Amino acid sequence: MAEQIEIPYIQTELYRIRHSAAHIMAQAVTEMFPPGEAKVAIGPPIEDGFYYDFELPRQLTPDDFPVIEKRMRQIIAARHAFQRREVSAEEAKAQFADQPYKIELIEGLERGGMDEYGNPVSEAPVISFYTHDVFTDLCRGPHVEHTGQINPSAIKLMNVAGAYWRGDEKRPMLQRVYGTAWKSPKELEEYLWKLEEAKKRDHRKLGKELGLFYFSDDVGPGLPLFTPKGEMLRHLMEDYVRETQTRYGYSHVWTGHLVKEDLYKRSGHYDNYKDSMFPPMVDENVRFRLKPMNCPSHMTLYKEMGRHSYRELPMRFAEFATLYRYEKTGELNGLTRVRALTQDDCHTFCTEEQIESEFSLNLKLIREVLERYRFTDYKVRLSLRGEGGKYVQDDEKWTKAENALRSALNANGVDFFEATGEAAFYGPKADFMARDVLGREWQLSTIQVDFIQPARLGLAFIGEDNAEHTPVVLHRAVTGTTERFLGVLIEHFAGAFPVWLSPIQAVVIPIADRHVDYARQAAQSLREAGLRVEVNEGGDRMNAKIRDAQNQKIPYMLVVGDKEMEAGQLAPRLRSGEQMSAVSVEAFIAKAKQDIADGV
Ligand SMILES: [Zn+2]
Ligand SMILES: [Zn+2]
Repeated sequence: MAEQIEIPYIQTELYRIRHSAAHIMAQAVTEMFPPGEAKVAIGPPIEDGFYYDFELPRQLTPDDFPVIEKRMRQIIAARHAFQRREVSAEEAKAQFADQPYKIELIEGLERGGMDEYGNPVSEAPVISFYTHDVFTDLCRGPHVEHTGQINPSAIKLMNVAGAYWRGDEKRPMLQRVYGTAWKSPKELEEYLWKLEEAKKRDHRKLGKELGLFYFSDDVGPGLPLFTPKGEMLRHLMEDYVRETQTRYGYSHVWTGHLVKEDLYKRSGHYDNYKDSMFPPMVDENVRFRLKPMNCPSHMTLYKEMGRHSYRELPMRFAEFATLYRYEKTGELNGLTRVRALTQDDCHTFCTEEQIESEFSLNLKLIREVLERYRFTDYKVRLSLRGEGGKYVQDDEKWTKAENALRSALNANGVDFFEATGEAAFYGPKADFMARDVLGREWQLSTIQVDFIQPARLGLAFIGEDNAEHTPVVLHRAVTGTTERFLGVLIEHFAGAFPVWLSPIQAVVIPIADRHVDYARQAAQSLREAGLRVEVNEGGDRMNAKIRDAQNQKIPYMLVVGDKEMEAGQLAPRLRSGEQMSAVSVEAFIAKAKQDIADGV
């Protein structure tokens, strides 16, 4: 447990493998053309792979990949050493005399403040070459020792796309060839499987197939419309968090959708956040804004509720509030980036001494919720103050708060790593990064300490010393927003939600018309027991009905024919394909309730 230091990617073996594979690919590609005709730009490792940018006499296509890969494997088999050499700018320019992109990069290195990829850096410039076989690149490394350390069966070229030189649309469009490289063919295979699986699980695609939500030009971009099934999911998710919050001692409030712009000027949001707000609505010279966050509203409510004594603290306000944020249309993405988002937001008003216990309470709640949603692989990024003037308030407060957070994380046995300089200007924070079943990391829950806003908005409590003090506020979201979290859940579960979260938990399937009455009766008993049930009375054959329920990922298919009708039973079939033996209606209800309690 406790603090973990993450090994930076650049220090890993995979980084060296991918970086070296990028050089080898660049050699293979340049060799396809007469000397000097292929212009090379940059080729860094990236997450899960690498790329290289080229200007070539003709457009490459995936049909070229087998040829390039074959040549790469030959270079690998020859076990060429990677040799490093530091050179002067003159020598570097002479080497790359016919390579205009390299010349530009060398000039950047010469001037300083730029690395060999043209990214800003602070260190003094060292110009170095890496050479393997006949290929030399402007490069600071690191690389493997020789090409033979790359597994020839664990590399693959993925695609080719256009990319502007230095990301500038006024500069030439280059060809960017993407590849991936791993330590073993098994790792490569697993990676390719995950890519395929991610495509199948895409929540935009599954959302349509399962009939959960739609977007319409008539309503506007980034404004999802939820079907009855989609709304049921939202309702179940919000209900569950609400029930849990109540159990942990949080109270729910409601603060509406419109707020006077002045409040955001006083809270400081207007200056920092106005580009993310929808334009104002003006009524008799008063400007209103659609609410982009709840904090100022909750703080105003705290103030309006009268003078507070230290005895009333902590006070915990939670709200499911639909907020509106002006996201650029190009950045909208299914449910994960929308313009109308429903936050499961909470603000705790407490004393400085209560930060640790309140943070701890939030941690426990978040862990319970993440576990219920079957996110078991997560870690916390603890963002602390760094150097520089953006961090306001006194040292003592920061140190105390940072220590309180650290100590609560340790006491709860939560894996965390520290990120210095990543804190918000108003206080330290903890973000939960959870991995889904495909190993992708999502930032979900967050807890933030705030020393600033409460003072700005004039919040106070009377302390034990009879003097007025400013409370500290903890901002917290458990699942983040209902919309984004639902998008993540759809992909995490591939649409096969746990029974408790399934909008339809069971479908009763009568084999023939004469079984319909019995099917309806059985369904009614299940409904009275609190289950969400449908009867498929359509004219399709049983197998077609089962297939349909399977596609809809309904947990239980309950087949009824003569035998079941006579015995007052149901023949359950699970969406896994498992066929259970027939059971009484009561026995099935008991099983379903057990599955719901177990969270399966
Ligand atoms: Zn390099
Ligand atoms: Zn807040």
